[in-house]
Amino acid sequence: MQDRILSLETLIGDSSRITIVTHTRPDGDAVGSCTALCSYLTERRGKDVCVVLPNPAQSCLDFLSEGLSVLDYSSSPSRAQERIRESDLIFCMDAPGFHRTDAMEDYLTSARGRKVLIDHHLGPSEEQFCLVFSQTQVSSASELLYHILMGLPDIGGDAARLPSSCARSLMCGMTTDTNNFANSVFPSTLQMASCLLAAGVDRDELLSRLYQSYGENRVRLIGYLLYKKLRLCPDGLAYMIFTREEQLAFDYREGDSEGIVNMPLAVGSVRMSLLLSEDDGFFRVSIRSREGVSANACARAAFNGGGHERAAGGRLYLGRDIASRDELEGYIERNCKDFL
Ligand code: 5GP
Ligand code: MN
Repeated sequence: MQDRILSLETLIGDSSRITIVTHTRPDGDAVGSCTALCSYLTERRGKDVCVVLPNPAQSCLDFLSEGLSVLDYSSSPSRAQERIRESDLIFCMDAPGFHRTDAMEDYLTSARGRKVLIDHHLGPSEEQFCLVFSQTQVSSASELLYHILMGLPDIGGDAARLPSSCARSLMCGMTTDTNNFANSVFPSTLQMASCLLAAGVDRDELLSRLYQSYGENRVRLIGYLLYKKLRLCPDGLAYMIFTREEQLAFDYREGDSEGIVNMPLAVGSVRMSLLLSEDDGFFRVSIRSREGVSANACARAAFNGGGHERAAGGRLYLGRDIASRDELEGYIERNCKDFL
């Protein structure tokens, strides 16, 4: 990887206006990896850097963007398009290609700036980039970025040289993508966590912002979905369907259902868990599985999506994949059984 890190060093040196993008509905790793890179390039390298998110992240992640230049494409599309057009260098973080940026895709593919991928998903669109860092044996895009930053000459393997907001963002992205050290933890992940802690990251503060800042609704929603909506099938499939009416009743906000899809895997017999949340004309699908069961294969084959081997997602369209909501349960049970 060191040769590619040196190529990156040259690309950074040759660029002055840099834009960083990530996937739609950005999660902690998406925002963490973008803001960490933005903080490094702004504070240590003096570059003009802007993060462009396809749409806003959950408000509990807002603290990561403080003091940085961050644009929301969904509310300022023309400013964001101009920014993308005028960039010398564009980074795509935590997404295997520009298709995961939704409405930004065409502007990114046609942009003249050089493009770099830093991602940990399966199946990267390598042809879109002049430099590719794609590794699946890491916890998160934030961890991969950490290893890249450590290899840059000015950091020289010393995490204490990272700006403090960069170190905090890296820790945040790794923490959320591992579900606070519950999955996808590698020896390199713990090594990174150790070095960032030693460099002064306040993990207690981070955990309280990430996991103790929800409203009462979220806690009640967890209870409702698990008690009233969880279906357990004899073949090891578990699923929950969260309808529009229920979202209104719980005053549902972006992020309120984060993590709930993991919970049915606590049942000994469950090998794959799905959460389907209704949206405009489609259901958003989240899938988690145990070792040996491929959430990714299921998402690709049945739900127009993809992701990681054991954490994937996609969409199920009404009127195309199923005629009406009444067919949803049958569709799920029929299409998931091949993957169990
Ligand atoms: P989550 O269930 O947390 O929304 O997503 C889990 C994983 O699945 C993430 O790594 C994400 O990249 C992937 N994923 C979620 N939704 C989609 C989708 O619509 N398409 C694809 N290709 N991947 C998705
Ligand atoms: Mn990620």
